[in-house]
Amino acid sequence: MDIMKMGKNPNYLGSWDLEDAPNKELTLTIQSITEELVIGTEGRKESEAVCRFKEPYKPMILNLTNKKTLIKLYGTSDSAKLVGKRITIITKPVKAFGGVFDALRIKPVVPPVKAAPLEKCEVCGGDISPTKTMSSAQVADYSRAKFGKAMCAKCAKQFAAELAAKNEAEQNAETQTIQEKATNNAVETAPAHQ
Ligand SMILES: [Zn+2]
Repeated sequence: MDIMKMGKNPNYLGSWDLEDAPNKELTLTIQSITEELVIGTEGRKESEAVCRFKEPYKPMILNLTNKKTLIKLYGTSDSAKLVGKRITIITKPVKAFGGVFDALRIKPVVPPVKAAPLEKCEVCGGDISPTKTMSSAQVADYSRAKFGKAMCAKCAKQFAAELAAKNEAEQNAETQTIQEKATNNAVETAPAHQ
């Protein structure tokens, strides 16, 4: 074991917990922020703001820097309003006590919302892209209701064009039949003029 990791408080999130995370970053959702008595490494009890997460990670003690970042990110210092908000935690080398150590920092950007996986087109197998007003799933539902299959915009356009052409052909055929009938009627009634 790394001697640098010894003696750290194992009950709370530390920079060492980020070592295995991708890009050494953790994006977590706040479950609660409460004031708790924390026993520090010197055995002193201190009152701290403890942030717990919905994901299975250890709680994080919020220092002043991180509290300020959190307020800046979400425009509130109300713990109740911060429930459900997402934060990305990174490590940053900080000079202190004559040395440099990694400190936990809340990244000063709101984590981007993870995009839902895109629906697949049943015709070409490609992605169904979201539109300005509809998600991929909504486009798929719309297409399913209208055409009977989930389709991408390109395939839906082609399908609609083919459908229109087919309808037109049927209509033409119908018109033709009516015209033929009319002609036949005309032929039948023609002898009267002779
Ligand atoms: Zn398609």
